[in-house]
Amino acid sequence: MSGRTTVERPVGVDVHGVHKRFGQHRVLDGVDLRVRPGEVTVLLGPSGSGKSTLLRVINHLEKPDAGYVEVDGEPIGVRRRGGRMKELTERATLVQRRRIGFVFQNFHLFPHLTALDNVAAAPVATGLSPRVEARERARELLGRVGLAGKADAYPGQLSGGQQQRVAIARALALRPGVILFDEPTSALDPELVGEVLGVIKDLATGGTTLLVVTHEIGFAREAADRVVFLDGGRVLEQGPPSEVLDRPRHRRTRDFLSRVL
Ligand code: ADP
Ligand code: MG
Repeated sequence: MSGRTTVERPVGVDVHGVHKRFGQHRVLDGVDLRVRPGEVTVLLGPSGSGKSTLLRVINHLEKPDAGYVEVDGEPIGVRRRGGRMKELTERATLVQRRRIGFVFQNFHLFPHLTALDNVAAAPVATGLSPRVEARERARELLGRVGLAGKADAYPGQLSGGQQQRVAIARALALRPGVILFDEPTSALDPELVGEVLGVIKDLATGGTTLLVVTHEIGFAREAADRVVFLDGGRVLEQGPPSEVLDRPRHRRTRDFLSRVL
């Protein structure tokens, strides 16, 4: 791996007492979570338990009703002032959010841009790199996710697994300190899951901080430093995969695992 393709210094994420409700529906009910720099955390939980909402709060796509999130020790969207939290401007929040990569279930690529331009677009638009440099780096990143030959292909000409790998390269292009994945393989045909998980495992080995929502228990077992089980908007249990997956303490964790295994 060349020096230029390495990501930014890995950073930690600390979630402090986050509450979030939609109307009367309490979706996050006091979540505390620590992801240490360079660690891989897999977030498990039944459908509707609040996993996507938690990722969106971490990325400040959703504002928490109470509590806050720190990335690299810095509160997102707010700053402390005389013991109180004061909201940051949208612009200041955007700068913080760029340190957090996000990979979605449904890829979210721009259909009218080639793979190369999908990867190069954000660094140019945000002023991180001049166009020529961004395209050169995009080429390197596509190589890193095994798509060197697909630079000029449009998303519609790529398989789901290839599209998701482009999306991962695009996340890396902004040199994030942490990358959040929301069920990155659940929209894929089974035979394409492995190629995407392989790329995520490479990132994990490379020392990037990763928080991955997935039902792929095999991946959790192999790649995760910690597994967190979310249920009803609360962290029910967490620990190393050998504990949470093989000796779950709660019945709800056992029930969930018996359904997905
Ligand atoms: P998960 O990703 O674990 O399946 P989500 O975080 O997507 O769970 O959703 C948790 C609950 O919050 C669900 O009941 C969902 O319907 C609800 N929810 C999520 N986003 C919104 C929203 N923007 N408005 C209203 N309800 C929402
Ligand atoms: Mg979800």
